[in-house]
Amino acid sequence: MLKWFWTACAAACVLFLSGCATSGGNRNDPAAIRSSPVASERKQALLSKGSLSGPEWLELAELHTADRSFIAAESAYWGALTRGLDAGGNWRARMGLGRCDDARLQWASAALHYGEAASMLVPLSDRDAARAAQALSEFRGGQIERARKTRGLIAMTSAPQVADLDRLLGGKVAAPSPRVETPVGTSARGLAARPRGTGARSAPKIVSRIEWRATPTILKRTEPMGAPTRLTLHHTADLKPVGTSFADVAERMRAYQNGHNGAGHFWADIGYHFVVDKQGRIWEGRPLVYQGAHGGSDAANSQNIGIALIGNFSNGVPSAAQVRATTDLVGWLCSEYRIPSAKVYGHEDIKKMYRLKGTACPGAKFDPTLRQIRASVSR
Ligand SMILES: [Zn+2]
Repeated sequence: MLKWFWTACAAACVLFLSGCATSGGNRNDPAAIRSSPVASERKQALLSKGSLSGPEWLELAELHTADRSFIAAESAYWGALTRGLDAGGNWRARMGLGRCDDARLQWASAALHYGEAASMLVPLSDRDAARAAQALSEFRGGQIERARKTRGLIAMTSAPQVADLDRLLGGKVAAPSPRVETPVGTSARGLAARPRGTGARSAPKIVSRIEWRATPTILKRTEPMGAPTRLTLHHTADLKPVGTSFADVAERMRAYQNGHNGAGHFWADIGYHFVVDKQGRIWEGRPLVYQGAHGGSDAANSQNIGIALIGNFSNGVPSAAQVRATTDLVGWLCSEYRIPSAKVYGHEDIKKMYRLKGTACPGAKFDPTLRQIRASVSR
């Protein structure tokens, strides 16, 4: 699906001589974005030669094609900006610019545009692909440490481009938060140990943080997730009933986040990594690269993905759509992180394991669903 991320602007046979203005300055300046000293110099060098070989003609054609794609992507980018940040058009335009920068060997500029695209992208898999492209550009531009940091932001690791990236980076991945810079000699739970997923199941549709207008994670309060090794299901047991519309649930997501990172708890973010509503929508909670706050203690949260289902299953049962979505989500996460079905827990199991107190979660009536989900993982 994402092959296009990796396809540099394709070569064409048409020779089209377009000038290539070069200027430095602000990155938001159209003239600066248009600049391409490397491609421009190379083109001049080729053009000043008396005669060109076959491969040189091809290279010249590629440089021209890259220029033309770049100009097209650039006009889409500025169009998106003037239309008032239409997120879809905007990230597409920025990916286009990144791709064309790649073709023009402008690695820093490519990395910048991929990074901008990633910050706007909605589906997790696309966002990660943009991050992977960003890291690759950084690597090619000689920014190895920066590339490792960017690699550390990738949540899903089954994509083939991640395997390529890991090989290039020598398997070293920098952890994503400032808190990870632990003194030498202590063991940081970095992301390096994160296993590469099987990719056997594809990611379900997930409503992103951008869509529910999450506030940013408070980085100084975060702990890195490390490699997820288990997964815990919760119910939200809301005091006030939750509406069914997208807007209703988005509002509730913001309320969970405010409750968790505000005066109530002072956590880094919403405690759960995912929330599943009664209509079967899956909402992205705390980014997976950060340890969650849902198990009841640091030990309980360690390497533990937290998923909350909206509802109270002490006195009700989850809806069919909710069970279906949760099964898809859990199945995908288990394949992505090689989590066995025996490590799919209900909160109650985790509380017993660590002798923690608390209310019944996810509720006795959830037991059959939990068994059903475990069974679907083992298949
Ligand atoms: Zn719970």
